[in-house]
Parts: sequence; structure tokens; C-alpha cells
Amino acid sequence: MIKRTSMRFAAAIVAALASFVAGPNAALRAQPQHQDQAPGFYRLKVGDLEVTSLFDGTGVFDPHWLNGTTARMDGVLKALHEDTHLLDVADAGFLVNTGKQLILVDVGTGGWWGGAAFGRFAGSFRSAGYTPEAVDIVLLTHLHSDHAGGLTTQDGKRVFPNAEVYVAKAESDFWLSPDIAAKAPKDAQPFFQSAQAIAAPYMKAGKWHTFSGSEKIVDGMELVPLPGHTPGHTGYEFSSRGQKVLFWGDIVHALRVQVQHPEITAMFDVDQAAAAATRHRLLPKLASEDVLIAGPHMNFPGLGRFHREGSGYSWAPVVFTDQWNTPAPSPQK
Ligand SMILES: [Zn+2]
Repeated sequence: MIKRTSMRFAAAIVAALASFVAGPNAALRAQPQHQDQAPGFYRLKVGDLEVTSLFDGTGVFDPHWLNGTTARMDGVLKALHEDTHLLDVADAGFLVNTGKQLILVDVGTGGWWGGAAFGRFAGSFRSAGYTPEAVDIVLLTHLHSDHAGGLTTQDGKRVFPNAEVYVAKAESDFWLSPDIAAKAPKDAQPFFQSAQAIAAPYMKAGKWHTFSGSEKIVDGMELVPLPGHTPGHTGYEFSSRGQKVLFWGDIVHALRVQVQHPEITAMFDVDQAAAAATRHRLLPKLASEDVLIAGPHMNFPGLGRFHREGSGYSWAPVVFTDQWNTPAPSPQK
């Protein structure tokens, strides 16, 4: 007994000495986990434009929100069983600093959709070095609250007090119509209510603008009608020094499913056939051009390019770099 106690005593002395000797070496001490992330923004250059992706949140797309043939959807469910991250999605908005104007394209959820894992857009925007007062223009791909919510606080105030907001007339007319809202199915009602509440303070201030053709809103930016997901769903294509970036809204929700199978639609598509047709028309075009795509629901930062792969496509996300002034080499086409 005495022997065991003295051995224990000796072990304690050795441990104390070891910690004394190792004291200055912090690596030997347990370090707290940080459990947070770097600020949610990522910048790159497109010609002379500075494009910043602004993180809003992440979630998981429910497989039952996807529509396809029974065989195709059975395949998706089987794949999801083997790969539980198959339907991981993100939400983001984007900022374009043209050097003259500060332009947002979609602004995240703003607490109007998705719960606690979303609503980071405003913080990401400030982390990127800007104040809401500095925004000149907001372009909305459509009026679902995961894209427009960040415009307006929950108590109905404008987040971007100096911004002129633009959206397609067909989009504005649809979601802001009391008659259409009254006839819509019950589970679609929240989409109408949130769109109306989000738009209201900008309409009141005379800062809500619609377009119906190819009006010029910003130099070097083209409107790209992409109907189907919603009646006035619109992409915005900016060009600078021969480089292009297309902000495409909700052309793809579930990246790893719809890129391989563009015919699969989402239940949020107001016109399923038109949504699939738009995707079928757009993807081959993008795959043959060197257009940077900015997609709010693609894995953050939601920036990449399309390439053909088999009967479908593959998504090549941008690779993180801190190289600023060296443009990425672009294949000659
Ligand atoms: Zn969306």
C-alpha cells in the first residue's frame, strides 16, 4: 500500500515537472474550438467589375420538393440514402461594384424565410465593407422571399434607404396582385404575403420600378428573361472587358440533381414545363460560353461555370484565391 501511494506521488511529481517544463509551449494545452466561421463573403473580378458573393445561410432541400418521373425520383431517393449531403443547398445574394455604382442582385432572406440558419446577408454585406445607405440599385431575379427578403425589416422598414429597386413587371404584377393572391392555393399564400410586405415600403417611397422589355437600367448589363420558376423570373448579365457574369436566380435549386437531370423541376416553379424548358435552353448555351454563373443556391460562394458531362452537365465552382489582379486564364473560343 505504501509502495503504491509513493508511486502515485512520484507520478504526480513527474507530471508536475513535465507541465512546468512544457509550460511556455501553448501547443501542449487544449485549445478552445472557435465554432464560428470567417465572414461570409467572397470577391472576384469580372473585367473591371468587382463581384462579391454574400452568404445568407444553408439548408437541405427536401427531396419531395423535386418533381420528376417516378423512376428518376426513386433514383434520387436511393442516391440520397447513400449520400446524405446530396441535397445540401445554400442561399446567397451578390454585390456588383462597377466603380461608379453599387448594385445588389438578390438580397437573401432577411428573416422572411428559412428560420435561424438563414438571414446572414446583412452581416455578410457589412463584413464586406459596405453600408446599406451606399447601395444605389437592387436588381431582383424574382420576388420569393429567399431572394427579396433582405430588402425590408420585419417591421416594414427599408434596409437600403437610397436604393432604387428593379424587378420584372410580370413578376411584380403577379405577386403583388390581391386578386391573384386571393385565388392562389393556401400553401402558396405566404409567398404572396411576404412579397407584398417586402415591396410595400419601396413602393411607398417611389423606389419600386418594373421593366417589361430590354430597358437599359445599368450600363453593360442585359436583362435575360428566364421564365418558369416565376412569371417574371429574370437573369442579369453584366459584361466588362470581354468577361461576363450571369446572375441567374433559381435556374437550379438542387445542384447535384438538376445539373445531371435538367428536366427535374422544383415544386416552387410556378410553371413547371416552362422552368424545365428554360433550363434546357440555357444550360447548353452556358456550357459553350465562358460565362461566370452566380447562383444563389449553388454551394457558397455560388460562383462557377458549366461544362458538358455525359448527357448532363458538370458544375465547376470557382477556386478560392487571394490573387486579385491576375485574371483567370480563359480558353480562346
Ligand atoms: Zn430561391
